[in-house]
Amino acid sequence: MREVVILGAGPAGLTAAIYAARANLAPIVITGPLFGGQLALTTEVENFPGFPDGILGPELMELMKQQAERFGAEVRIGEVTEVALTRYPLRMTLNGEIIEAKSLIIATGASPRLLDVPGEHEFFGKGVSTCATCDGFFYRGKNVVVVGGGDSAVEEGTFLTRYASKVYLVHRRDRLRASQVLQDRAMKNDKVAFIWDTVVDEILGDEDKGVTATRLRNVKTGAEEALPVDGVFIAIGHVPNTKLFEGQLKLDEQGYIVTDSRMHTNLKGVFACGDCQDYIYRQAITAAGTGCMAAMEAEKFLAEVEERAYPA
Ligand code: NAP
Repeated sequence: MREVVILGAGPAGLTAAIYAARANLAPIVITGPLFGGQLALTTEVENFPGFPDGILGPELMELMKQQAERFGAEVRIGEVTEVALTRYPLRMTLNGEIIEAKSLIIATGASPRLLDVPGEHEFFGKGVSTCATCDGFFYRGKNVVVVGGGDSAVEEGTFLTRYASKVYLVHRRDRLRASQVLQDRAMKNDKVAFIWDTVVDEILGDEDKGVTATRLRNVKTGAEEALPVDGVFIAIGHVPNTKLFEGQLKLDEQGYIVTDSRMHTNLKGVFACGDCQDYIYRQAITAAGTGCMAAMEAEKFLAEVEERAYPA
């Protein structure tokens, strides 16, 4: 029987592990399919406090792991395929093995929705990005495409004009989904150009330079063009990695886990942190912050279990 199991080894899960380990709870962290979460897919991280010269995403995650292990966390590679959270103790299945736990911290993150076009995977991190806040800085004086028509695309497009000379907002329809205030701001910005009714069919580039162009297609006229750009920011939404919990935990209509302001889910002893419950900030530092909160709440919950022999 484990005191606490943590699902996910991104900044939220590993920070929860550091705190839980330092509270002598000997947490087990189950990595899921991608150790390091979305930071495993990033290159330079320049906005995580404490690293004035920046740090590589995978390196930051490796350091967090070492820090958690130093205090007794056990990191296990693998994917939990089944959970039973409406019983106590909680129960999960990892590679056929049953693990029982008194508390659970879910930090399974979210995956950016991708276009699934040629060149996207090949140039990911070499011109293709899903995070303007993280990578915008590298596009000073350059031209970029932002794909999408929601709040993220329009906000990120406007944000990118701080660096880029020109931002092409490519949207598949002729109307944005983004809120009016964000639309107005983008429309007033000379550096933003809208390309309507258009989809990206391919991202072009070469090994040395990374992305060099996108092949665009107007869905109404069928007209195609190759637009020379240095970067492609994909902002077509995220998908929270919460399928495993459907029917047991309260999720919102987009699938994000519903938590209160202290990271409690609707089930006793089950906490959630990071991008699986946050569709607004989605930063490594905010994920780490909520990971810390979830671990402190789990610790408090476990003390109560001990005291009251809860649930009987
Ligand atoms: P979103 O609202 O779901 O918008 C996704 C956009 O991507 C839509 O315009 C959609 O087109 C387009 N899209 C989806 N799949 C596509 C595909 N395969 N190819 C091309 N385009 C595709 O996602 P989001 O912008 O990330 O926002 C998510 C949530 O966070 C929303 O609730 C949003 O309000 C919130 N948010 C708020 C703020 C803010 O308030 N400042 C900032 C960011 C996000 P269609 O329009 O044709 O469906």
